[in-house]
Amino acid sequence: MVTVGAVTIDGVQRKRANRLLLAARRSRARARLLSRLVLLGPPGAGKGTQAEVLERKFGICHLSTGEILRDVAAGNGLPQTSALKSALRYMRRGELVPDATILELVRERRDCLHAHQGFALDGFPRTLPQARALNRLLLQEGLTLDAALEFSLPMEQVIKRLSGRRICPNGHGVYHLKARPPKVDEQCDRCGAKLVRREDDRPEVVRARMNAYEKSTRPLIAFYKEQGLLITIKAQGKPNEVFTRTVNALKRNL
Ligand code: ADP
Repeated sequence: MVTVGAVTIDGVQRKRANRLLLAARRSRARARLLSRLVLLGPPGAGKGTQAEVLERKFGICHLSTGEILRDVAAGNGLPQTSALKSALRYMRRGELVPDATILELVRERRDCLHAHQGFALDGFPRTLPQARALNRLLLQEGLTLDAALEFSLPMEQVIKRLSGRRICPNGHGVYHLKARPPKVDEQCDRCGAKLVRREDDRPEVVRARMNAYEKSTRPLIAFYKEQGLLITIKAQGKPNEVFTRTVNALKRNL
C-alpha cells in the first residue's frame, strides 16, 4: 500500500495507473509530428519557405546552408576566411560549394540538431558524401532522422518561381512578386528594406544550379528512399497549401 498525496493505491491500482500513463505517453507520441527533417527538392521548390513556417509554428530549428552563405556574402555573418571566400565564388556561379566547407558550417551549428522541437535541414545535404557525413554526425550526437521530405515541382514552374523570387537584403524572408507579394510594393514586410533579386537567381546562373541539382542532389532521393525515410510532397500551389500538405504528411506517416 502506497500513499500518493491524499490517495492511497495498492499494487493493482498502481499497475493500472502505469498502464494508463503508458497509453497517454503513446498517444502523445502519435500526436507528435515527425520533426527531424531533411528537406529536398530543386532550387525554387519552396524548401526555405516551408522551413520558415515549420520554425514559426512548431519551433523546429531551421538550418539553411544557403542562408548562412548569403549572410557571409552580405557581411552579416561569419568573417570571410579564405575557405568562405572561395565558397562564395562557387555560389555566384551556381555551382556547389565543396563538401568540406559545408560540413564545417553544419558542425559549427550542431546545437540546432538538438533543438527540442526538432530540425529542418534546408539545402543540406546536397551530395551523397554530405548525406553520409550527416548520418555519421547524427549517430555521433545520438540522434536519428525522422524523414526526408522531397518537394517535387515541374521544371517550368521552377523557372517561374525563381524569376519572380525576391528576398529581404537583411535576411527577413523570401517573397514572390505574384505568389507571395509583400504588403507594400517591393518592400520587406518586417523592415521596409527594398527587396532584391538573389544574385544566383539570374537566368544564366539558374541553369548551372539546375545542372548541379540533377547531377549531385537528385541521387539523394533514392538514398533516402532506400532508408525508408522519403516522403514526397507536391510543391505546386500557394505556400499555405503546400504547408497543409506538409503537416498532413508529417502526421500521416507516424
Ligand atoms: P536553392 O535551393 O534555392 O538553390 P540555397 O539557398 O539552398 O538555394 O543555396 C544557394 C547556393 O549555396 C547553392 O547554389 C550553392 O552554391 C550553395 N550551397 C548551399 N548549400 C549547399 C550545400 N549543402 N552544398 C554545396 N553548396 C551549397
